[in-house]
Amino acid sequence: MVPTSDGPGPSMVSIPTRYGDTTFRSRLEADWAATLDSNNIEWEYEPETITLDSGTLYVPDFWLPELGTWIEVKGPGIPRTEKTKELAHTRACRCENTCTCRWPGGEFVLLGRPSLASDRTETGHQPRSGYANWETPFGPSTYFVTCPACARAQWTTLKRPWRCRACRALLEKEQVHRPVDRFVRFIETTTRTGLFAMPDLGEPLTDAELGLTDGPEDDWS
Ligand SMILES: [Zn+2]
Ligand SMILES: [Zn+2]
Repeated sequence: MVPTSDGPGPSMVSIPTRYGDTTFRSRLEADWAATLDSNNIEWEYEPETITLDSGTLYVPDFWLPELGTWIEVKGPGIPRTEKTKELAHTRACRCENTCTCRWPGGEFVLLGRPSLASDRTETGHQPRSGYANWETPFGPSTYFVTCPACARAQWTTLKRPWRCRACRALLEKEQVHRPVDRFVRFIETTTRTGLFAMPDLGEPLTDAELGLTDGPEDDWS
């Protein structure tokens, strides 16, 4: 008998995390929300239950209503991405010649991954929480770009039509960025949970600030 591996493995640790008015299932999801906010990208968390062609019910993590883009956040302990692939396949553009989709190129689906660490060869300030990392589960690779007309940050492909997903302005002359370019700074929502998150600027926290001391309260005055 072959064991199945439908459930998350034992390495999966999801810590419900509050950010703004939303409680996310994991800190990685909350961090992605904060990263979208830092780029002024509008998002909705789990707005819809989708019935996939296979009949499976699926609740993707984020819908970006201005950009026609879904983001499914997957940590390292959650390797299975079949539903995300199926959603991406279903929503991709199938126009024969001119794209008539509501969103140029159809709806995009991204996998939101844990951040990429700062590259040690960088000079100047290196953000401790690293840079946003994403994958395309199906279809052409997606690149991060900012529309020159409406200033909306978004993901696009290098496949025509190459237009802003919000205002349809041409994006052909804009610079696009892959995750490895380390261009999109990743934002962490929590700063007081021990080893994982540190404030982005300044000196490392002391043991007392991290709550690691057993003694009486420090005198802060
Ligand atoms: Zn189309
Ligand atoms: Zn635009």
